[in-house]
Amino acid sequence: MKHEDCIFCKIVEGDIPSAKVYEDDVVYAFLDLSQVSKGHTLIIPKEHARDVFEMSPELAASVYARVPKIAQGIKTAFQAKGMNILNNNEAIAGQSVFHMHLHLLPKYDEGEGFDAIWKTNEDAYTSDELAAIATSINEHIEK
Ligand code: AMP
Ligand code: ZN
Repeated sequence: MKHEDCIFCKIVEGDIPSAKVYEDDVVYAFLDLSQVSKGHTLIIPKEHARDVFEMSPELAASVYARVPKIAQGIKTAFQAKGMNILNNNEAIAGQSVFHMHLHLLPKYDEGEGFDAIWKTNEDAYTSDELAAIATSINEHIEK
């Protein structure tokens, strides 16, 4: 369902122009204007969902099922050596457009394009504390 004032819904509808990479009944894929690296593509569900937290299992399954072939297309077109696939959820995590999207960020060389920076806190937890964290998350996963 189309969402009022959502720029990605407007892109799906063709009301805002985009450089289309791929389209079928479930997803629309287009070039991210920022082109962090050449071929940087966004995959979005045609059905509006704000973020991963709003996605049904069925929508998630059908969106993610399209990822490998689109990733392969980008890789083959420009001989990418690797790829980061990224999904930001909520502003604090870097989301700026509130229609669920996956970034496909081809990587050509070290030091260019997207760089994932992981701060490690490996020494901050005992194994008992890690087990307690894991249990707490598990208890909150719908069974
Ligand atoms: P995020 O920050 O994860 O929400 O990513 C939103 C992305 O959408 C940014 O990388 C923007 O460059 C991109 N973007 C915003 N408007 C457009 C547009 N009209 N066409 C293509 N990409 C867009
Ligand atoms: Zn939308």
